[in-house]
This record gives sequence, C-alpha cells and structure tokens, in this order.
Amino acid sequence: VQAVFRSNLSHLLELMGSGKESLIFMKKRTKRLTAQWALAAQRLARKLGDVRRDQKQILVHIGFLTEESGDVFSPRVLKGGPLGEMVQWADILAALYVLGHGLRITVSLKELQSNLGVPPGRGNCPLTMPLPFDLIYTDYHGLQQMKQHMGLSFRKYRCRIRVIDTFGTEPAYNHEEYATLHGYRTNWGYWNLNPKQFMTMFPHTPDNSFMGFVSEELNETEKQLIKGGKASNMAVVYGKEAGIWKGKEKSLSILHKYMEVHGTVYYESRRPPEVPAFVKNHGLLPQPEFQQLLRKAKLFIGFGFPYEGPAPLEAIANGCVFLQSRFSPPHSSLNHEFFRGKPTSREVFSQHPYAENFIGKPHVWTVDYNNSEEFEAAIKTIMRTQVDPYLPYEYTCEGMLERVHAYIQHQDFCAAPGPAPLGARAPQSPFVLAPNATHLQWARNASLAAGAWPPARSLRAWLATAGRACTDACLDHGLVCEPSFFPFLNSQDAFQKLQVPCDSTESEMNHLYPAFAQPGQECFLQKEPLLFSCAGASTKYRRLCPCRDYRKGQVALCQDCL
Ligand code: UDP
Repeated sequence: VQAVFRSNLSHLLELMGSGKESLIFMKKRTKRLTAQWALAAQRLARKLGDVRRDQKQILVHIGFLTEESGDVFSPRVLKGGPLGEMVQWADILAALYVLGHGLRITVSLKELQSNLGVPPGRGNCPLTMPLPFDLIYTDYHGLQQMKQHMGLSFRKYRCRIRVIDTFGTEPAYNHEEYATLHGYRTNWGYWNLNPKQFMTMFPHTPDNSFMGFVSEELNETEKQLIKGGKASNMAVVYGKEAGIWKGKEKSLSILHKYMEVHGTVYYESRRPPEVPAFVKNHGLLPQPEFQQLLRKAKLFIGFGFPYEGPAPLEAIANGCVFLQSRFSPPHSSLNHEFFRGKPTSREVFSQHPYAENFIGKPHVWTVDYNNSEEFEAAIKTIMRTQVDPYLPYEYTCEGMLERVHAYIQHQDFCAAPGPAPLGARAPQSPFVLAPNATHLQWARNASLAAGAWPPARSLRAWLATAGRACTDACLDHGLVCEPSFFPFLNSQDAFQKLQVPCDSTESEMNHLYPAFAQPGQECFLQKEPLLFSCAGASTKYRRLCPCRDYRKGQVALCQDCL
C-alpha cells in the first residue's frame, strides 16, 4: 500500500489519548503546529514527485511515560522538568502520521502487551508470534519492557525497533561482549543492535541516526516584525530549574550592567523564586508564551545547563543571539555527573555543541565565562549586532519529514548483513585512489552494491591523522563519517590503494579498526561488524575513515540519498 500524506491531524490527537500532563503538553504542541506540518507535507510531496512510498504499520511505545518505568516526567511537566523529550516525541508522532503511516501509540505496559498480542498474564510468552508492525519506535525503558514481554519474538523482531536516545549510544557501548571486556560499562548499553537503530536529538555521531525535532518557522512578514520589535537590552536566561543560577553571580552581574535579565524558572507560589532579585522571572511559561518572550528578546543566554535542548534553536529561530559558555576541559561521561553512565564517550565542548558547530556566529557566541573581559565584550557586541531569525532546514517540519521519510524507506536492519567484512580475501576492489592521491573514491566502473543506502558512490575514504576520530576527520574535509561504508574499506586492498605500508595485517575486535599503527607499521582490520564506529580515537592509531557528502542543512542525508 502506498502512503498518502495527511494534513488533518485530528485523528492523531485522538490516538494520543489523554490524562497525563505530558500527553496534554504534547497534544497542545501538535495542534499548534498543524498548519506548519500541513504546509511541509505539501512541499515535500512536490519535491519527491512520484517516488513510491510504502505505508508501514508502526507502533510507538513511549517507555518513559509508562507507570511501570516510574513515569517521573509527567508530574514534572508543570514544574520545569525536562520538556525536550516531550517536544521530540510529539514531533516524531506528527512526522510519522503526516507521512501517512499506520500508527498505534502506547504509554502503558498493558497497552503494549495488547498491541503485541501477548496474552495477559503470560508475561514471558515462549512462542514467537507474528508481529503486526513493520516498525517500533521506543526508548530505552520501552526496549527493556519489550525484552521482558515479547519472549523469543524479541530476538526475531528487534531489527524492527528504533530507539529514541537523546544523547546517543556509541558502538563500543552497544556491543555487549566488547563493552564488558573493555570497560565501556553503563546502565544503558549492551543491546547489540545496529548502532543506526539508535536515534538522537542532535546529530552527535553518525554512528546513530539523527532523528531531531522541529522548531516553529516564521514567514517573511513575521521575521520583519520581529526584527523591528526587538528590545536590544533584553536577555532571557536558558533553563527552567533554579539550580542553573547557582554560582553564576559574577557573570550575571556583568550581564545585568547592560541588560534587563528575564528568566522562566518554575517556582511555587508559597515560596519565593530562587533567583537573584534583579531578575524578572516569569515562572515556567506555556510554550507559545515562551516563544513570545523570545521574540522580544535580543539575547538568549546559557549558563552551562541544561545540555543540548531545543530552546536555543527556538531562540535563534526567533531572532535571538545565543550566548553560551565554552567548556574547558570538555564535559563527558568521565568527568560530569550528568553524562555519567550514558553510553557515549563524546566530549562536549560547550553547552550546545550543535549551536556552536552547525550554526555559529552571528547567531551563536561561545565564550569563556571565566574570562570576564571576553564575556563582557561579547555582550556589548551582541547588543549592537542585527541578526535575522534563522532555523536550519533539518529542524523545520519539511526537513524532519524528509529525513524520516528517507529512513523509513531505506533503512533496513532485518535484511541479511550488507557486504560481509572482506577481510584479507578482498575480491575485486571497488575503489581507486583519488587523482590528488589523498583519499579513496568509488571507481566509476565498479558495481554499486544494489540497494545499499546511502549509495556507495558517495564514499570518500581518508586515513586520519593519529589521535583523530573519524567523526572529526571527515568534518575536516567538509564531509561526514558514514559507518555503513566501513565494510567496503575493511580490507588489505584499501590500505594498499592508499599506499599504506603494512608490514603485517591483523584482524581483531576493536572499535577503532580498520586502522594503521605507525610504530610497528601494522595494519588492523575489524573482525566484528557491529563495532564499526565513527566515534573514538587513540594516539596509537591512524584510523581509516569512510566519509560521504551531505545535503546543506540536512547532514543526515547524502546528495543522492532521497
Ligand atoms: N519551554 C517552555 N516554557 C518555558 C521554557 C521553555 O515551554 O518557560 C519549552 C521550550 O519551548 C522547549 C522546551 O521547553 O521547547 C524544552 O526546552 P529546553 O531546551 O530547556 O530542554 P529540556 O532541558 O527541557 O529538555
């Protein structure tokens, strides 16, 4: 059956059920964004032309909202708890629905069981039953619940699962045996899924799929209106919890010298707000009112927490400049409580790395807050600069629909594994050394692995310098790391073509392989396909990195990927 774009979301709102504060928040958002989704669907339909889109039956099981996992979020929705996750789930539901797929939504174990066809009371059904869904979107909580309640079907069908995982899961943490042996121990990893089955909030590492969310888009008239209506001395502080103000007195007093400081910190009427007296605190605002506040403000300022939420993108989309602190040394699961136990070694160099690296000046300023002069100078310059509202394409409704469409039509983790690791027995070599002898590219006459996605012709492979991760090595060349190309490169032939002098070649389990170790002139191939990883570096190795091009404003997709 062909999927047909939908522009009326009232049935989706019914499907979302009711009761919980979290669902109410999500439904309000979906309702408010209906017109934007409808317009985006029209535009994407035009762009895709008559491309065939199969209708999928999809189950969305939002594990963290189930009572069984404690549902710690719903009671906090009205108190400044994390709303980012709810923003993202609301947008995922809208995208799947607008794309025209069959949708079921569950937020309790009971509903999950009845949708999976597990007989009540039979917690662990030993038989494999047919699964009435092509795809299941869930989170780590939901994954655990499915493992417990699907019996043998879980193994059989886990390739259909997609895990919404805000901060991402790196391959070294995902591979159970490897993680256990090498100290990549966390509360969350060990699922042995294809790392691309994890879907993140921002494009952290291309080892995972970038799911994202949307921010409201302004039309030209609104943009002009906003630009005219800005109060150049108005700053809004990022963060809804009182804790973020602690220990920031010095920067705050500098900021207050120049600007009126607004906050949206939750407080209870019985207790005075725990923010400095000069702050105009609005309390936690409903989302539309928060947007209105951003429209008037010149500056949106972060004091280090929360990490990587939606709000800075909304601020920039509403014409604010986002000022944030540089982290030196970077924060990570090794040195920061917040990231501890998360299945990633990613180092975070500022509060919002996406804003810093993908947007940057004039919209985003990342400065050292300990350096008062630098901080003060930034504020003064920002007050004088005019910026246009800006929203990266990948965070528009159209951009999200385009990306989710591409994933649904092309990602298949149930098919027999792609090209087997070639090991030392590489048959015919599919690539050649580029004319400038710096990297490998796909040979024009080589056959293109049929059905492979992204298409292999976008492969560009580089030998990274020692200590450089493939994520960074590819970005250095204006490209992005593409883990699905690793199997093509995992061969002696690739090293040979790159004229790497291998004295010996070994095949082992190591998330940094394929790689070259300079001291012994040793080449190493990857023995375990699940461990292919863009993330990760060691000064011992020069990693062999598969890169690809990407669409401007849509880093998840290569030029030929639609
Ligand atoms: N938000 C809101 N009211 C406010 C402040 C923020 O509704 O007073 C919304 C905001 O629009 C954003 C969401 O909260 O979409 C999440 O924001 P944040 O970046 O703080 O991420 P979180 O830490 O909540 O995940």
